[in-house]
Amino acid sequence: MTRTRTGAAVVLSAGVVTALSWLAFGQHPAKPSATPPEQKRIGSGETPAATGTPEGAAEIPFVSPRAHAVETPSAPNAWGGPRTGKEATLSDRVVKYDIDATLDPKAHTIDAQEKLTWRNRSDRPVKTIYLHLYLNAFEGPGSTFLTEHREGGFEFRSDVGTKDGQWGHIELKKVEQAGATVPWKFVHPDGGPETDHTVVRFDLPTAVAPGGNTTVDIAFHDQLPRVIARTGWFGSFHMIGQWFPKVGVLELAGERGATAPRWNVHEFHLHSEFYADWGEYDVRMTVPKSFQVASAGEEEGAPVVKGDLVTHHFVQGDVHDFAWMAADNFAPPLEGAYEGPGSPPVKVKVFYPPEYKVDAERSLQATIDSIRFFSTTLGPYPYRTSTCIVPPYNAGEAGGMEYQTIFTGDGFLDAAPDTIGAAAVDFVVIHEFGHGYFYGLLASNEFEEPFLDEGMNEYWDMRMMRARNQDVHLTSSTLKRIGFDPTLSGFGYERATGALNVHPADPIGENSWDHMSSESYGQVYSRTATVMHDLEERIGKDATERGFRNYYAKWHFRHPSAADLMDALAEGSGERATVEEVFHQNVFGVQTVDNRVQSLTSDEELPQPGTTYKDGKWTEETKEQVDKRISDKRAEWKKAHPDAKHGEGPFPYRTVVTVRRDGARWPETLVVKFEDDSTETIKWDGERLWQRFTFHKPVKAKWAELDPERRYYLDANKVNDGHAREPDSSAARRWTSDLSSAVEVLYSLVGTL
Ligand SMILES: [Zn+2]
Repeated sequence: MTRTRTGAAVVLSAGVVTALSWLAFGQHPAKPSATPPEQKRIGSGETPAATGTPEGAAEIPFVSPRAHAVETPSAPNAWGGPRTGKEATLSDRVVKYDIDATLDPKAHTIDAQEKLTWRNRSDRPVKTIYLHLYLNAFEGPGSTFLTEHREGGFEFRSDVGTKDGQWGHIELKKVEQAGATVPWKFVHPDGGPETDHTVVRFDLPTAVAPGGNTTVDIAFHDQLPRVIARTGWFGSFHMIGQWFPKVGVLELAGERGATAPRWNVHEFHLHSEFYADWGEYDVRMTVPKSFQVASAGEEEGAPVVKGDLVTHHFVQGDVHDFAWMAADNFAPPLEGAYEGPGSPPVKVKVFYPPEYKVDAERSLQATIDSIRFFSTTLGPYPYRTSTCIVPPYNAGEAGGMEYQTIFTGDGFLDAAPDTIGAAAVDFVVIHEFGHGYFYGLLASNEFEEPFLDEGMNEYWDMRMMRARNQDVHLTSSTLKRIGFDPTLSGFGYERATGALNVHPADPIGENSWDHMSSESYGQVYSRTATVMHDLEERIGKDATERGFRNYYAKWHFRHPSAADLMDALAEGSGERATVEEVFHQNVFGVQTVDNRVQSLTSDEELPQPGTTYKDGKWTEETKEQVDKRISDKRAEWKKAHPDAKHGEGPFPYRTVVTVRRDGARWPETLVVKFEDDSTETIKWDGERLWQRFTFHKPVKAKWAELDPERRYYLDANKVNDGHAREPDSSAARRWTSDLSSAVEVLYSLVGTL
């Protein structure tokens, strides 16, 4: 999704305490605990849980609740090995969902029958499976989601509160395996409050054999919430995401750091998104005849009308989630198409409320442009549809969210060309479509490694903005009329929020829910984009693109980890040392970059009194003799150079520049400019915490500056990168003037986004 509004705000001071608290990062055992925690909670409507496990079906533990960026590369055959495109299906399918759902748009409820077919990929019988019941995050204050909101001070998106009568939940009405009742109970894999009901345990009457399948029949009832954190209703608009019981992922040894089978099925956390198996979805949705339906996947056959109702049927294989939208007050959808090498013909649709026609037109173009950019820079888009929904005014909570083959954009009342609204419409579409790659096809775990989807996607989005020469105009139509039109590049924006004056409290490889604050979680987006921008500056554009193409080729239709990304980039780019250094500093670690010019001096190199050794004896030149020699030489020089400027003379100058780093090693170029307009350029490798460079020149230095081409954005303080010998000289001021003014403008406008 797009970041929360607070997440977009610049963190001015992260605090020392938080950095200290993260010294412990990486020391948590990556191994899963031997057994899941005792689960005794019995919620309302539950049937009694089965006790014990049958012979040969030992308990499979949960992944650690402290899981975060994985540092061990997955095994080559993880998730069935790389996909070549020649297999019977694009992905190695694990699940199939057949769902028949009926929406009551007045009560905002869904009643549905779900047939979940699940394949046991492990080498042991499985008696217990776990499912997500995401909608229960919105049942009330007791959920893990809303507890984190209250106790952690976390915020989501626009943070609209839920009022009386607007809560949501999902209720299991029936759970059966081959006609036999399946006992179930709520569990808390992350140690969340007992009042959380977002994960449920099914104890199957019949264990699933190794490599075998089982089908579970589930009847469920959704009470949708007033739109909150991606899902729900506003008026007749219904965005239906995270709406059905969805099985967790059974990870095997060699997959994302697992050393033995483990259940990866986290509670629904406030900052978190999702993680699920590859499979096929076959969904029928019945709505009133007057409603339009937009859905993931392709529509099968014509809608079937029965009385006042109509049933649509959508099917999509090789995805890991499924969402849809129903509304009765939308305009007819805009339609477009994309055709490109390696992709099937793609039908593009934009569903929108009439007030957002301009936004919808921009969204259609941005979607098509995004398919082209992502499919030509990473790998072909493999699906036949891409659908964008612009949510209505007052339903912004549903905007800016990704699902495969369908996503929500955002609407802005002023989206005229070259305004901040237009940039936001384009950016949200690019970002949410981009998730179709980073999260969609490269199906990372959004709970544990959100930087792999949000951060990598943000980086690739900004590369697309850069490729289309699209700067962000920080203005509105009205302000433009009076000539106010500052611009900022996409990466400049990321830097302003992700690096400038930022001392991160969390590594960007932290999981989604253990960030200190929503601002710190926002770093998953902007700091990742900035780190990757600077890595690209270090290893070059071609090497970066080779690295990312390698990542896509190896990991699409699988579930890559941070270590898998690092390894694929290292291998593809041929720049292993740099890639690994940058990942260890920034993804697994919490290091800032801050290089600076500590001092700059230029002193005349005058003869000095003392003895010298020559022809076997020491000869002394006294201070008086030296002073005379100096004044004679000056007088002689002045005679010969009557027009000499102040400061010029017969003696050379020694310029000494001391550079320092207060953060991680980051090699940079040092440029020293002299009064005769000559320059000296030095590559500083940054190995030591400081380095002194000495120059002997006929004139004094004017200024010294690190990174004069301004290639690196990660440096927390750019103002100290320049040092002028005299206070009013140019270099230091260059940074202060343009950066701080642009950032100030940004601060004032971010609130209007
Ligand atoms: Zn996102």
